[in-house]
Amino acid sequence: MEFIKSADVVVIGGGIVGTAVLRELSKYDLKCILVEKEPDLAMGTTKANSAILHAGFDAPTGSLKAITNVRGNKLYHELEQELDLDIKWTGSLVAATTDEEMKTLQELLERGKANGVEGLKILSREEVLEKEKNLTSVKGALWAPSAGVCWPFGAALAFARCAVQNGAEVIRDCRVLGFIKEDGRIAGVETSKGVIRTKYVVNAAGVYADEIAKLAGDESFTITPRKGEYILFDKTACSSLVFGVVFPTPTKKSKGILVCTTTHGNTFIGPNAQDMEDKDDHAVTAEGMNEIIASARKLIPNLPMGAAITEFSGLRAVSSTGDFIIGASAVAGLYNAAGMQSPGLTAAPAVAEMLAEAIVKDSGAQAKADFKAKLPKKHIFNRLNWDKQAELIKENSLYGRVICRCETITEAEIVEAIHESCGARTVDGVKRRTRAGMGRCQGGFCGPRVTQILARELNIPVPEVLKERADSHMFYEKNQAQGGEA
Ligand SMILES: Cc1cc2nc3c(=O)[nH]c(=O)nc-3n(C[C@H](O)[C@H](O)[C@H](O)COP(=O)(O)OP(=O)(O)OC[C@H]3O[C@@H](n4cnc5c(N)ncnc54)[C@H](O)[C@@H]3O)c2cc1C
Repeated sequence: MEFIKSADVVVIGGGIVGTAVLRELSKYDLKCILVEKEPDLAMGTTKANSAILHAGFDAPTGSLKAITNVRGNKLYHELEQELDLDIKWTGSLVAATTDEEMKTLQELLERGKANGVEGLKILSREEVLEKEKNLTSVKGALWAPSAGVCWPFGAALAFARCAVQNGAEVIRDCRVLGFIKEDGRIAGVETSKGVIRTKYVVNAAGVYADEIAKLAGDESFTITPRKGEYILFDKTACSSLVFGVVFPTPTKKSKGILVCTTTHGNTFIGPNAQDMEDKDDHAVTAEGMNEIIASARKLIPNLPMGAAITEFSGLRAVSSTGDFIIGASAVAGLYNAAGMQSPGLTAAPAVAEMLAEAIVKDSGAQAKADFKAKLPKKHIFNRLNWDKQAELIKENSLYGRVICRCETITEAEIVEAIHESCGARTVDGVKRRTRAGMGRCQGGFCGPRVTQILARELNIPVPEVLKERADSHMFYEKNQAQGGEA
């Protein structure tokens, strides 16, 4: 296999954990490369979850989940401005509808206090209804003011872009196939693009982390995918259904089916929890939909089902150890960030701190004096007032061309999303960076226009534009579709 590059650290996986680790490592004089098998970042579990920055009362006290959750939540409060993250600090409610569930709230409160969560309080029915008027069946709730909702794709992208601005490299469409070992320790990573020589590897491969570890000779854990399905509602139909995050009282298997409003104003319900065998099975099922609708109706009886615009599912990476697996493996040079089920999104910056500390200690790397922490702020056209919008259109006429009518996304924002660092290369990549295609029509109107813009800006023919993954072509030349040459 051809040798392509060398690095001090290779991070495998461009989800929230891999990108957070890359950013943390880019604070040191280490040459770091992140490899991601897909055409874009955050296409695994990071793109399909509840997007909640949990307060930290769920996980058992002393577990890695609890420690990194509470620390991660604090770090997001600090990183929000620096990285221009899209977060709403709404607080969260765990709603109890029976006396038995009220007892569970007390247990959660005590566990939360032991985990170091601040501001937890049990609210009466009246106090809950002041916050969320549609929770008509509630008896009381646990209030956690430090919780919030974020845009997970945006957070992963911001971590990666910050790392790149500090000298790290991101290689997409680059699948890890194996490892090169010398004297029992990692000496290189074999990828679909060639060999990268390296001393250290961070395994942040999500549901595939056990397979990556096994390729390196570490068989100490396995990962089982656990599917969670969701329904997303049109924001114009239900913007005042719930203000923040509303959980039911949790079960042993999951935090339960919640009702929540995203940072963009869409309410969603989900997820259920179903153990799977296939790590690529993202199908949503009729049974799953029925299950989450029935559960969510226990909290909010008047769900506007006619306003559902899409369904999706994500896979939790459930580890055989029962906790997150963070740190040095028995294979020298390999560091795992595995079993990152919920609250992995919240925990990611704390997990990154722990791993970077371990690698820095092992390698003797020095902190950079010139680390650039801040990312430039982006214009979000539809959040600006008319005067500012007019000013932008004067500067760049592409702000005057609305491509996505549902979300009011302009051509200028799409062009910027393609050309920024770690820029969009696919239609869904544009969607996740700008929201073009995320509205009521789900891209029915703007999809072909976004495809045209991608083809023009990337200088490729329209049939080469992908929707999301490799081979997800949407258009074919007429004679190519008939079996002839393109
Ligand atoms: C239903 C559900 C709800 C959740 N809700 C929350 C929540 O509200 N709050 C919260 O804190 N957490 C939540 N989580 C957990 C959170 O989403 C995950 O912990 C987090 O996204 C995991 O990130 P990751 O980077 O470890 O994995 P991923 O995002 O899956 O990233 C792994 C990456 O590795 C890449 N990869 C895999 N194999 C290879 C290879 N061979 N070569 C190169 N790249 C490879 C993949 O393509 C992928 O991009 C939820 C999870 C689910 C499923």
